Order: sequence, then structure tokens, then C-alpha cells
Amino acid sequence: MHSFDDFRAIVKADEPLAPLTWFRLGGPAAFFARPGTVEELVGLLNRAREQGVPTRILSGGSNILVRDEGFPGLVIQLESPLFADVKIEGTHVEAGAAVPLTALISQTARAGLAGLEVLTGIPGTVGGSLRGNSGGRQGAIGNFVVRATVLDSAGKIQVRERDEIAFGYRSSDLDEPVILSAEFELEPEDPESVVRRMRRIWIIKKENQPYGHQSSGCIFKNPTPEISAGALIEQAGLKGLRVGGAEVSDRHANFIVAQSGAKSADVLALIEQIRSKVAAQSGYELNLQINLW
Ligand SMILES: Cc1cc2nc3c(=O)[nH]c(=O)nc-3n(C[C@H](O)[C@H](O)[C@H](O)COP(=O)(O)OP(=O)(O)OC[C@H]3O[C@@H](n4cnc5c(N)ncnc54)[C@H](O)[C@@H]3O)c2cc1C
Repeated sequence: MHSFDDFRAIVKADEPLAPLTWFRLGGPAAFFARPGTVEELVGLLNRAREQGVPTRILSGGSNILVRDEGFPGLVIQLESPLFADVKIEGTHVEAGAAVPLTALISQTARAGLAGLEVLTGIPGTVGGSLRGNSGGRQGAIGNFVVRATVLDSAGKIQVRERDEIAFGYRSSDLDEPVILSAEFELEPEDPESVVRRMRRIWIIKKENQPYGHQSSGCIFKNPTPEISAGALIEQAGLKGLRVGGAEVSDRHANFIVAQSGAKSADVLALIEQIRSKVAAQSGYELNLQINLW
């Protein structure tokens, strides 16, 4: 029997996770906490490790599918004001892991700083985006990072400089238990032209992606820089394919949208159908971009 008695004030049992994710699917976390300080965060991680309880960090929940059985461990959400601060000094920007990208992009654009607007329309936070090096055709968050502050598995705060971090396509080696904050270097530019670029990107995204539906962004990684997973799924004739309440979006074939009554199991079964049909049609094995809990 696991116990978080000394953290009774902040740890909840059987906390529903679905409302905290963009898919809005899946079961509860066995334990759930929103620590208010780094000390509480370290204490929770230590207590979980001592008891062999698996842990996950939840941020915006826009790249996570929780299984219907829920997560049998401790889910920690960094939400306190401590993790949500933005400081801008000249072209240098420091942001806590829990800062939503939308807030960071609009604050830096208004301050006349260009770069992060390429991330317009990505509904995550700084922490979640750094973990998976979120981005699109125009660039990824890693392009602008100068350093990141993380909590290592011994509970020590470490600073990782840009040249010690490997960012790849939808990946980074920032795989310490917790990313706490990041610093970015941006380019000075007239705020109005940055905002115009933001608006243009947003219009294109809204046209091509099923915002307003329950989804988790692109389900699969592109198999090569030239070949998109969405194009392979569309060429296999799978737009609109449905399992239970899960459906391949007719707006963007690499999105699965959850209709009313959907279960995570429907999404998982649809993922398997897409994989096998795409492999049969094109020979490409699609790998997941979303995180499965
Ligand atoms: C409509 C829609 C459109 C999208 N468009 C794009 C797009 O254009 N490009 C793109 O790249 N992505 C896109 N996504 C996916 C998603 O928004 C990004 O991956 C986003 O950056 C995830 O951030 P998050 O805060 O929601 O992370 P979460 O979903 O909460 O977490 C993602 C992963 O990061 C880990 N993590 C989160 N925070 C931390 C932390 N502080 N420390 C350590 N690990 C952490 C989690 O444990 C999990 O493994 C889209 C999603 C949706 C729903």
C-alpha cells in the first residue's frame, strides 16, 4: 500500500485526468499533486521513488493520451505561480515550465521580440514543448533556447547550457524528471510585424487543423522530413475512418478526434488500424508522437 501521508495537504487520490488533457479521455491518476514549491516537488519525487511509485509530469496535457484504466502512479502538475513567471530583459527571456506558449508568444511579440511566433497555435506550455521540441515547418522551440533549468533524478537543480542539449525532430534529451524553466534569446523586430506573422500562422493552422475538437495534435511522427504521416494516412484513404467514438479527422489526417462517448481504447484501436493500413499501402511504419500514459 503506497502512502503520501506527509503530503496529505496536496496529494489527492484517484484524481480524474481526462479534464486535464486535450483529448479529455482516460481514467484517473492513483495520486495527483500540484506542488507549490520546489521543496515540495523534490519531497514528492523522493517519496514516490522510495516507494517505487511511477511518476509523470503533466503540463498542458495537449500531447498525452491517458489509458481508460488511468495512471497507476503519481501525476504532478506544475501550476503554482512559482513555475509560471516570465521575465524579459532586452532580447533575453526567461520563462517557467508552466507558462502557456500562447502567453509567452504574445508577451514576447508585444515586447518587439521575434522568433517564438513560429509556435503560434501550439497549445502547450514551455515544459511540455521543450521535452518534445515542439514546432512545425517554420521552426521548433529548441532553436531559441540558450539554457534550461531542470531537476535531476537526485533532486538537484541543474542548469543545462544550449551546447549540452540535443534537440531533434519532436525530441530532446531533456529527459531529467522535471524541466523547471528555460531561457531564450530572441531577435528584436517591430512588434506589429511579429504580430502580423502570428496572425498569418494562426489563420493557416485554423484552416488545416481541427481546433475545437478533442484531440492531441499529430498522433504520429513524420517518417522522414519529406514524407508526412498525414499524407500517408490520407493516401491510404483513411480520412473519416472510425472506431467507436474515435475518428481520423477529415481536416488533417494525422489528427484523431474524439467524438462524444469515445474511449481511449477506441483511439488505440484506431491507431493500430492506421498503422497496419499505412504499412500495407506504403511500407512505412508510423511511430507515435503522442505520449501514452
Ligand atoms: C490542436 C493541437 C495542435 C497541436 N499542434 C502542434 C504543432 O503544431 N506542433 C507540435 O510540435 N505539437 C503540436 N501539438 C502537440 C502539443 O501541443 C505539444 O506537444 C505541446 O508542446 C505539449 O505541451 P504540453 O504542455 O501540453 O505537454 P503535456 O502534453 O502536458 O506533456 C507532454 C510530455 O512532456 C512531459 N512534460 C510536460 N511538462 C514537463 C516538465 N515540466 N518537465 C518534464 N517533462 C514534462 C510530459 O510528461 C509528457 O511526456 C498540438 C496539440 C493539439 C491539441
